[in-house]
Amino acid sequence: MTSVMTSPHPVPGAEQASIDARAVSAWFGDRKVLDRVSLLMPGGSVTALIGPSGCGKSTFLRTLNRMHELIPGASLAGEVLLSGVDIYDPTRKLTDARKQIGMVFQKPNPFPAMSIYDNVIAGLKLTGLKAGRSERDDLVEQCLTKAGLWVEVRDRLRQPGGALSGGQQQRLCIARSLAVRPKVLLMDEPCSALDPTSTRRIEQTIAELGHEVTIIIVTHNMQQAARVSQQCAFFLAEQGTPGVIVEAGPTQQIFTAPNDQRTADYVNGRF
Ligand code: ADP
Ligand code: MG
Repeated sequence: MTSVMTSPHPVPGAEQASIDARAVSAWFGDRKVLDRVSLLMPGGSVTALIGPSGCGKSTFLRTLNRMHELIPGASLAGEVLLSGVDIYDPTRKLTDARKQIGMVFQKPNPFPAMSIYDNVIAGLKLTGLKAGRSERDDLVEQCLTKAGLWVEVRDRLRQPGGALSGGQQQRLCIARSLAVRPKVLLMDEPCSALDPTSTRRIEQTIAELGHEVTIIIVTHNMQQAARVSQQCAFFLAEQGTPGVIVEAGPTQQIFTAPNDQRTADYVNGRF
């Protein structure tokens, strides 16, 4: 029951990097948790992954930036193409994929003792990108602005990241991801640990960023999926079977006229 996303309407920034998962299966040891999942996530748009807990959404997200292979005993099959190039090509370095595909997690995880400024540029050191002092200053301002945090922290850039509120910490993590200039940003329930006000601010950021960076977001919040995404994929793992995509398509259609009864039941809160 895998399905491939149909060709999307042209969106601003459609020349941005697409990510194309083809027949991705994933295992933990002998246990298969994803079964031939195919999904085209168009460049310069936001794709929401929805579905009940345990159906493989986080696992799928980790196959998109080669994090799945780091889990002991984990394995996978299939292909992931970033603008047509296989991220699992054995001749490419792992860091190539990592630099291009950022990730933001459910629980904000800035380096708590490190300054706000240093948090933003922490990834530059990890990826070996070099920048001079004034370029770094510019980059910090630019990334914090894009993450919607600049105005709140511009006068306290030397304070520790851990001193910020949860919502601010999450925006700091988004700024840190952006500093590496990723083409794709993966977000795993980025607002689940946040209050409604912080959630709305992050949704705003996602909506704005979605034009320039290709965003894939896992969310349990159906209103959020409807507000921020242009495409939506509904994952399901029935009775101990591996997770599949039941249905994927334009968000509007998934919410108002889904093709599968199980999608209708899920988006209407019936399970
Ligand atoms: P979701 O994000 O949709 O809640 P996950 O991708 O986290 O689902 O999990 C899919 C399945 O894989 C679940 O049955 C889960 O128990 C299992 N799983 C997730 N992570 C691991 C792991 N590190 N080791 C073994 N099993 C795991
Ligand atoms: Mg998850």
